[in-house]
Amino acid sequence: MPESYLVIGGSGFLGSHIVDGLLNRGEASVAVFDIVQRIFDDRITFFNGDLCNEKQLSDCISKCQASVIIHTATPHPEAPKEILERVNIDGTRTVIAAAIANAVPKLVYTSSAGVVFNKNNIVDADERMPFPANEDAYNKTKQMAEDIVLAANGKDGLATCALRPAGIFGPRDRLLMPAAAQVVANGQWTIQIGKNDNIFDWTYVDNVVVAHLLAADKLSLTAAPIPNEELGVALPQITL
Ligand code: NAD
Repeated sequence: MPESYLVIGGSGFLGSHIVDGLLNRGEASVAVFDIVQRIFDDRITFFNGDLCNEKQLSDCISKCQASVIIHTATPHPEAPKEILERVNIDGTRTVIAAAIANAVPKLVYTSSAGVVFNKNNIVDADERMPFPANEDAYNKTKQMAEDIVLAANGKDGLATCALRPAGIFGPRDRLLMPAAAQVVANGQWTIQIGKNDNIFDWTYVDNVVVAHLLAADKLSLTAAPIPNEELGVALPQITL
Protein backbone atom coordinates (compact mmCIF):
# COMPACT_ATOMS: atom_id res chain seq x y z
CA MET A 1 0.00 0.00 0.00
CA PRO A 2 1.59 3.35 -0.99
CA GLU A 3 2.17 5.77 1.87
CA SER A 4 0.39 9.11 2.17
CA TYR A 5 2.75 11.84 3.40
CA LEU A 6 1.96 14.97 5.39
CA VAL A 7 4.78 17.48 5.85
CA ILE A 8 4.01 19.86 8.71
CA GLY A 9 5.98 23.05 8.10
CA GLY A 10 6.24 22.02 4.44
CA SER A 11 6.35 25.66 3.29
CA GLY A 12 9.66 26.16 5.10
CA PHE A 13 13.22 25.73 3.90
CA LEU A 14 13.75 22.09 4.89
CA GLY A 15 10.07 21.14 4.63
CA SER A 16 9.82 22.34 1.02
CA HIS A 17 12.91 20.30 0.07
CA ILE A 18 11.38 17.22 1.75
CA VAL A 19 8.28 17.80 -0.37
CA ASP A 20 10.52 18.01 -3.48
CA GLY A 21 12.27 14.79 -2.42
CA LEU A 22 8.95 12.97 -2.08
CA LEU A 23 7.66 14.25 -5.42
CA ASN A 24 10.96 13.48 -7.17
CA ARG A 25 10.82 9.84 -6.10
CA GLY A 26 7.30 9.60 -7.48
CA GLU A 27 5.15 9.70 -4.34
CA ALA A 28 1.55 10.28 -5.39
CA SER A 29 0.11 11.50 -2.09
CA VAL A 30 1.94 14.49 -0.59
CA ALA A 31 0.26 17.15 1.57
CA VAL A 32 1.56 20.20 3.40
CA PHE A 33 0.21 21.76 6.61
CA ASP A 34 1.58 25.23 7.39
CA ILE A 35 0.51 28.67 8.58
CA VAL A 36 1.70 30.12 5.25
CA GLN A 37 1.70 28.80 1.70
CA ARG A 38 4.98 29.26 -0.16
CA ILE A 39 4.89 26.39 -2.65
CA PHE A 40 2.27 26.21 -5.34
CA ASP A 41 2.27 22.86 -7.08
CA ASP A 42 -0.77 20.94 -8.32
CA ARG A 43 0.74 17.69 -7.09
CA ILE A 44 0.53 18.86 -3.45
CA THR A 45 -2.54 19.35 -1.29
CA PHE A 46 -2.01 22.40 0.90
CA PHE A 47 -3.74 22.82 4.28
CA ASN A 48 -3.53 26.20 5.94
CA GLY A 49 -3.48 25.94 9.74
CA ASP A 50 -1.70 26.26 13.05
CA LEU A 51 -0.32 22.99 14.42
CA CYS A 52 -1.33 24.10 17.91
CA ASN A 53 -4.95 23.85 16.79
CA GLU A 54 -5.80 20.17 17.17
CA LYS A 55 -9.04 20.41 15.20
CA GLN A 56 -7.36 22.06 12.20
CA LEU A 57 -4.57 19.51 12.25
CA SER A 58 -6.82 16.52 12.83
CA ASP A 59 -9.14 17.58 9.98
CA CYS A 60 -6.10 17.87 7.71
CA ILE A 61 -4.74 14.43 8.69
CA SER A 62 -8.15 12.89 8.18
CA LYS A 63 -8.67 14.55 4.78
CA CYS A 64 -5.26 13.63 3.38
CA GLN A 65 -5.36 10.20 5.10
CA ALA A 66 -1.76 10.61 6.23
CA SER A 67 0.14 7.43 7.01
CA VAL A 68 3.46 9.25 7.53
CA ILE A 69 3.78 12.64 9.23
CA ILE A 70 7.06 14.53 8.91
CA HIS A 71 6.97 17.38 11.46
CA THR A 72 9.50 20.06 10.50
CA ALA A 73 7.69 23.15 11.79
CA THR A 74 9.20 25.59 14.25
CA PRO A 75 9.01 29.33 14.90
CA HIS A 76 12.13 31.38 14.11
CA PRO A 77 14.86 30.50 16.68
CA GLU A 78 14.77 34.10 17.93
CA ALA A 79 10.98 34.20 18.35
CA PRO A 80 9.71 35.11 21.85
CA LYS A 81 10.02 32.32 24.41
CA GLU A 82 6.21 32.05 24.76
CA ILE A 83 5.82 31.36 21.03
CA LEU A 84 8.67 28.82 21.00
CA GLU A 85 7.07 27.05 23.98
CA ARG A 86 3.60 27.14 22.46
CA VAL A 87 4.61 25.79 19.05
CA ASN A 88 7.56 23.52 19.86
CA ILE A 89 6.28 22.00 23.12
CA ASP A 90 2.47 22.31 23.21
CA GLY A 91 2.26 22.10 19.42
CA THR A 92 4.34 18.92 19.26
CA ARG A 93 2.03 17.36 21.88
CA THR A 94 -0.87 18.36 19.65
CA VAL A 95 0.78 16.73 16.62
CA ILE A 96 1.09 13.47 18.57
CA ALA A 97 -2.49 13.63 19.84
CA ALA A 98 -3.81 14.31 16.32
CA ALA A 99 -1.65 11.54 14.86
CA ILE A 100 -2.93 9.02 17.43
CA ALA A 101 -6.55 10.17 17.03
CA ASN A 102 -6.26 9.44 13.30
CA ALA A 103 -4.34 6.15 13.71
CA VAL A 104 -1.26 7.47 11.88
CA PRO A 105 1.47 4.79 12.15
CA LYS A 106 4.63 6.92 11.63
CA LEU A 107 5.91 10.30 12.85
CA VAL A 108 9.35 11.66 11.94
CA TYR A 109 10.31 14.76 13.92
CA THR A 110 12.99 17.26 12.90
CA SER A 111 14.87 18.04 16.07
CA SER A 112 18.16 19.96 16.06
CA ALA A 113 21.80 19.43 17.00
CA GLY A 114 21.16 22.46 19.22
CA VAL A 115 19.63 20.09 21.80
CA VAL A 116 23.14 19.08 22.87
CA PHE A 117 24.70 22.53 22.47
CA ASN A 118 26.81 23.19 25.56
CA LYS A 119 28.84 26.22 24.41
CA ASN A 120 31.86 23.96 23.74
CA ASN A 121 33.13 22.09 20.73
CA ILE A 122 31.55 18.63 20.62
CA VAL A 123 33.50 15.89 18.82
CA ASP A 124 32.07 12.50 17.79
CA ALA A 125 29.03 12.75 20.03
CA ASP A 126 26.07 10.51 19.33
CA GLU A 127 22.54 10.22 20.67
CA ARG A 128 23.81 8.87 24.01
CA MET A 129 25.14 12.31 24.93
CA PRO A 130 22.82 13.69 27.62
CA PHE A 131 21.04 17.01 27.16
CA PRO A 132 22.98 19.82 28.83
CA ALA A 133 21.09 22.45 30.82
CA ASN A 134 20.15 25.03 28.22
CA GLU A 135 19.04 28.59 28.79
CA ASP A 136 18.38 29.27 25.14
CA ALA A 137 14.61 29.03 24.59
CA TYR A 138 14.91 27.57 21.09
CA ASN A 139 17.33 24.79 22.09
CA LYS A 140 15.42 24.09 25.29
CA THR A 141 12.05 23.80 23.55
CA LYS A 142 13.61 21.57 20.87
CA GLN A 143 14.96 19.34 23.69
CA MET A 144 11.52 19.09 25.24
CA ALA A 145 9.84 18.45 21.89
CA GLU A 146 12.32 15.67 21.13
CA ASP A 147 11.63 14.09 24.53
CA ILE A 148 7.89 14.27 23.89
CA VAL A 149 8.24 12.68 20.45
CA LEU A 150 10.48 9.84 21.63
CA ALA A 151 8.28 9.15 24.68
CA ALA A 152 5.33 8.68 22.31
CA ASN A 153 7.09 5.88 20.41
CA GLY A 154 4.98 2.73 20.63
CA LYS A 155 1.92 4.44 22.11
CA ASP A 156 -1.36 3.55 20.39
CA GLY A 157 0.43 2.10 17.38
CA LEU A 158 2.49 5.22 16.63
CA ALA A 159 6.19 4.77 15.76
CA THR A 160 8.25 7.92 16.22
CA CYS A 161 11.81 9.08 15.72
CA ALA A 162 13.72 12.35 15.91
CA LEU A 163 16.55 13.55 13.67
CA ARG A 164 19.07 16.19 14.73
CA PRO A 165 20.47 18.16 11.82
CA ALA A 166 23.18 20.72 12.52
CA GLY A 167 23.35 23.80 10.29
CA ILE A 168 21.51 23.21 7.01
CA PHE A 169 22.52 25.05 3.85
CA GLY A 170 21.13 25.20 0.35
CA PRO A 171 18.63 27.02 -1.86
CA ARG A 172 15.68 28.69 -0.09
CA ASP A 173 17.54 29.00 3.25
CA ARG A 174 15.96 32.02 4.93
CA LEU A 175 17.99 31.87 8.15
CA LEU A 176 21.71 31.20 8.11
CA MET A 177 23.13 32.53 4.85
CA PRO A 178 20.91 35.65 4.86
CA ALA A 179 22.19 36.38 8.40
CA ALA A 180 25.80 35.82 7.27
CA ALA A 181 25.24 38.14 4.29
CA GLN A 182 23.79 40.76 6.64
CA VAL A 183 26.95 40.59 8.78
CA VAL A 184 29.00 41.37 5.67
CA ALA A 185 26.55 44.12 4.64
CA ASN A 186 26.90 45.63 8.13
CA GLY A 187 30.70 45.64 7.77
CA GLN A 188 30.97 43.40 10.86
CA TRP A 189 33.06 40.74 9.17
CA THR A 190 36.31 42.36 10.30
CA ILE A 191 35.44 41.74 13.96
CA GLN A 192 36.71 38.52 15.55
CA ILE A 193 35.44 37.19 18.86
CA GLY A 194 37.60 34.44 20.38
CA LYS A 195 40.37 32.47 18.68
CA ASN A 196 38.35 31.56 15.58
CA ASP A 197 38.81 27.85 16.23
CA ASN A 198 35.22 26.88 17.02
CA ILE A 199 33.87 23.99 14.99
CA PHE A 200 30.41 23.60 13.51
CA ASP A 201 28.75 21.06 11.23
CA TRP A 202 26.97 22.06 8.04
CA THR A 203 24.88 19.67 5.99
CA TYR A 204 23.54 20.27 2.50
CA VAL A 205 19.74 20.32 2.57
CA ASP A 206 19.34 17.40 0.12
CA ASN A 207 21.32 15.18 2.51
CA VAL A 208 19.00 16.15 5.37
CA VAL A 209 16.08 15.27 3.07
CA VAL A 210 17.57 11.80 2.44
CA ALA A 211 17.83 11.27 6.21
CA HIS A 212 14.15 12.14 6.64
CA LEU A 213 13.01 9.89 3.80
CA LEU A 214 15.12 6.99 5.09
CA ALA A 215 13.68 7.50 8.57
CA ALA A 216 10.15 7.55 7.16
CA ASP A 217 10.82 4.39 5.14
CA LYS A 218 12.51 2.40 7.90
CA LEU A 219 10.51 3.52 10.95
CA SER A 220 8.63 0.58 12.38
CA LEU A 221 7.32 -0.63 15.72
CA THR A 222 8.20 -4.19 14.85
CA ALA A 223 11.96 -3.64 14.39
CA ALA A 224 13.54 -4.43 17.74
CA PRO A 225 15.65 -1.53 19.01
CA ILE A 226 19.31 -2.36 19.67
CA PRO A 227 20.26 -1.49 23.26
CA ASN A 228 23.17 0.94 23.41
CA GLU A 229 25.33 -1.53 25.34
CA GLU A 230 24.95 -4.06 22.52
CA LEU A 231 26.02 -1.67 19.80
CA GLY A 232 29.62 -2.67 20.46
CA VAL A 233 30.74 0.89 20.03
CA ALA A 234 32.62 2.65 22.78
CA LEU A 235 31.06 5.93 23.83
CA PRO A 236 32.97 8.47 21.77
CA GLN A 237 35.15 11.00 23.45
CA ILE A 238 33.27 14.21 24.00
CA THR A 239 35.26 17.41 24.28
CA LEU A 240 33.82 19.51 27.06
P1 NAD B 1 11.67 27.41 8.36
O1 NAD B 1 11.37 28.59 9.22
O2 NAD B 1 12.14 27.67 6.97
O3 NAD B 1 10.38 26.48 8.28
C1 NAD B 1 9.53 26.28 9.36
C2 NAD B 1 8.10 26.23 8.84
O4 NAD B 1 7.23 25.98 9.96
C3 NAD B 1 7.65 27.55 8.20
O5 NAD B 1 7.11 27.34 6.91
C4 NAD B 1 6.58 28.06 9.15
O6 NAD B 1 5.54 28.79 8.52
C5 NAD B 1 6.06 26.75 9.77
N1 NAD B 1 5.40 26.96 11.04
C6 NAD B 1 5.85 27.69 12.09
N2 NAD B 1 4.95 27.69 13.08
C7 NAD B 1 3.92 26.93 12.66
C8 NAD B 1 2.68 26.57 13.25
N3 NAD B 1 2.31 27.00 14.46
N4 NAD B 1 1.83 25.77 12.55
C9 NAD B 1 2.18 25.34 11.29
N5 NAD B 1 3.34 25.67 10.69
C10 NAD B 1 4.20 26.46 11.37
O7 NAD B 1 12.69 26.51 9.19
P2 NAD B 1 13.74 25.42 8.65
O8 NAD B 1 15.07 26.06 8.66
O9 NAD B 1 13.23 24.79 7.41
O10 NAD B 1 13.71 24.38 9.84
C11 NAD B 1 12.94 23.19 9.74
C12 NAD B 1 13.22 22.31 10.93
O11 NAD B 1 14.61 21.96 10.94
C13 NAD B 1 12.94 22.96 12.27
O12 NAD B 1 12.34 22.02 13.13
C14 NAD B 1 14.31 23.35 12.79
O13 NAD B 1 14.34 23.36 14.21
C15 NAD B 1 15.15 22.25 12.21
N6 NAD B 1 16.56 22.62 12.02
C16 NAD B 1 16.88 23.58 11.12
C17 NAD B 1 18.23 23.91 10.94
C18 NAD B 1 18.67 24.95 9.93
O14 NAD B 1 19.89 25.19 9.81
N7 NAD B 1 17.75 25.56 9.17
C19 NAD B 1 19.21 23.25 11.70
C20 NAD B 1 18.83 22.26 12.60
C21 NAD B 1 17.49 21.95 12.75
